[in-house]
Amino acid sequence: MNSNELFERSKKVAPGGVHSPVRAFSGVGGHPIFFQKAEGAYMESVEGKRYIDFCQSFGPNLLGHRDPDVQEVVEKAVKEAWSLGACEPYSLELAEWLCQEVSVLEKIRFVNSGTEAVMSALRVARAATGRSLILKFEGCYHGHVDSMLVKAGSGLAGIAASDSAGVSKAQAEETLVCPLDDIESLKKTFSEYGNQIAAVIFEPLPANFGLLPQRPGFVQAMVQLVKEHKSLLIFDEVISGFRVGMGGMAEKLNVKPDLVTYGKVIGGGFPIGAYGGRADLMDMVAPNGPVYQAGTLAANPIGCRAGLATLQKVKKLNLHSVLEKRTEDMALKLDKGLSSYGLKVARYSSLFWIHQDVGETIRSPSQFADTQKENFKKLFLKCLEKSVYLAPSAYEVGFLSAAHTDEILDTAVNAIIESAQEVL
Ligand code: PLP
Repeated sequence: MNSNELFERSKKVAPGGVHSPVRAFSGVGGHPIFFQKAEGAYMESVEGKRYIDFCQSFGPNLLGHRDPDVQEVVEKAVKEAWSLGACEPYSLELAEWLCQEVSVLEKIRFVNSGTEAVMSALRVARAATGRSLILKFEGCYHGHVDSMLVKAGSGLAGIAASDSAGVSKAQAEETLVCPLDDIESLKKTFSEYGNQIAAVIFEPLPANFGLLPQRPGFVQAMVQLVKEHKSLLIFDEVISGFRVGMGGMAEKLNVKPDLVTYGKVIGGGFPIGAYGGRADLMDMVAPNGPVYQAGTLAANPIGCRAGLATLQKVKKLNLHSVLEKRTEDMALKLDKGLSSYGLKVARYSSLFWIHQDVGETIRSPSQFADTQKENFKKLFLKCLEKSVYLAPSAYEVGFLSAAHTDEILDTAVNAIIESAQEVL
């Protein structure tokens, strides 16, 4: 069966034929491709066509698909134990390793997804402060936790409105929303609600709605306001954690958040999430403290062993700097080649985002060009024809992996520039 036939079949048993919405290609048109295999920088469709993959499972595959060293660890793990629901040494080894690498991580708890990590960290923050409001930023994504599926409301300053059916007004109103890169709005919201804010949750490298690097001054102002009002600071490093460097964005920005959430890279491509930070806060979690949080498959041995093998290899080969250099080279070439078509390439570490040039660095969704979606759609579909798979949305970033060699990147750069030439 080809991809179109499989999609028709899938639509009969899954909403929209998919198990996560972006996969349906609704933002880019056309029908989704079904992939049957993946290796390194490539994915192979059920039709047998190979694509250079810049989605990399939306970020987890820092070493690329099925890295041979990780595969060896996984094969051994499969022969030993794949789910225990009891204490085991594998999650302990990963927890020790993570806590050693990240200075703000005094204790950590594994869960199954980034969403769960965020949901649990918010619960801890509310318990620790006895307050109920959480402040988030427009354009930052924190998974599908009810209270995070919100947008700026039109009523009271800061108070959010639901951004998804099924999220109650009460849940939405426990969230405040501020624009990114706007210190004044943050100050105003704190002056109004400061003593009710349990925590500010922040994607320190916003990378779910474009790639929106924030000014250090904005982050410092946030840190200061949080401190003054005795709120907590949660860094959501589900994407950036262990991708931009071992210490994540907390280290890059020289900030000590109270709690941090993780996912993606730390499971080496297997389902995982984690939250951690100050020991006094984490000790509020059951069984030590009154905050209940549990998981049947939490700290799954396969994910923990794959994650540790991935991170150890990244560290041993100093892959963060190798990847950063490769991404820089690729982004500069792309930027040069795409400029005649009104496009620019934002980059940070091993992430990149192709966007409409608006004449300045984009730090907030309010700066997006109206043509972003329409032009990306054309570019995306042409790139597919030329065997380059970008994430199927104008607002998702691209991820490089260690398997993207200079040669593969040159092929991809040429294909993307040729695509722009043909359709824009
Ligand atoms: N937080 C951030 C910053 C994310 O990028 C994501 C997912 O993309 C999440 C939370 C949710 O993670 P998951 O999809 O594993 O639930």
